[in-house]
Amino acid sequence: MSTIDNLPPLRDVIATHELAAKKSLGQNFLLDLNLTAKIARLAGDVSAADVLEIGPGPGGLTRGLLAEGARRVLAIEKDPRCMPALAEIEAAYPGQLQVINGDALDVNPLEHLTAPIKIAANLPYNVGTELLVRWLTPPAWPPFWESLTLMFQREVAQRIVAQPGNKAYGRLALLAQWRSDPRIVLDLPPEAFSPPPKVNSAVVHLTALPAPRYPADPAVLNKVVAAAFNQRRKMLRSALKSVSPDIETHLAAVGIKPTERGEQVGLEAFCALARQVADNPT
Ligand code: SAM
Repeated sequence: MSTIDNLPPLRDVIATHELAAKKSLGQNFLLDLNLTAKIARLAGDVSAADVLEIGPGPGGLTRGLLAEGARRVLAIEKDPRCMPALAEIEAAYPGQLQVINGDALDVNPLEHLTAPIKIAANLPYNVGTELLVRWLTPPAWPPFWESLTLMFQREVAQRIVAQPGNKAYGRLALLAQWRSDPRIVLDLPPEAFSPPPKVNSAVVHLTALPAPRYPADPAVLNKVVAAAFNQRRKMLRSALKSVSPDIETHLAAVGIKPTERGEQVGLEAFCALARQVADNPT
């Protein structure tokens, strides 16, 4: 029995179900259920929410979320070896946990969830940023989720919260800060995981804003910031040539010096540039 529920400790679960971690699936498991319950608490009050969890693995965070009283958890896990362990949690929380054995990039979770929806995950590093960008760039806002509580490599977490002038500042910071309020809420050393990864990790909490901070078309803004930071050393007038042949005129129209680099330009100016580009198609 563990400290948070009547299920066996995670080390025993992993041994019983022979869940040797696979590097190819980004498997670094959290074994301390007090820690997973703490991460679940960082998601805020889950008692009136459906929670989407990506990559439950042996179920440490899943059990944390359920012990914290989540109304429902939908967990999407790619590794079929984890299914028997997750079925034991399902049995301990009847009607509260649904597990899908599939790739989070292919499954549409909305078919299985009811608002309000929170997302909480210790993300596999190989699909973590792709999922985050998808959650941040739907055509319409507000999105289907009200908050994201996500574990990343610390270096990725810093890219999400970075400010202009910082070397971590770029596309992720702009997309995240445009439509949400992101904060690093917990730092974790490698020893918190089994096996320990080579780098530190951090939990980022992002609350969806009711509306984006500044108007802009998400697809155009995404294209502009992707080009601006694709070769971060380049001046914007050459980095953004692929966006519009008239980019120097557009930069001047919104008050950005064409010799500036992306990392010197703030969110408001990038949104103005995206609007200028969208309003003047070539
Ligand atoms: N949540 C568990 C924990 O905190 O101990 C496991 C986290 S581990 C970092 C990432 C999990 O994501 C693994 O269980 C892995 O099998 C799963 N995973 C990897 N790629 C996935 C994908 N494309 N879709 C769904 N799950 C995936």
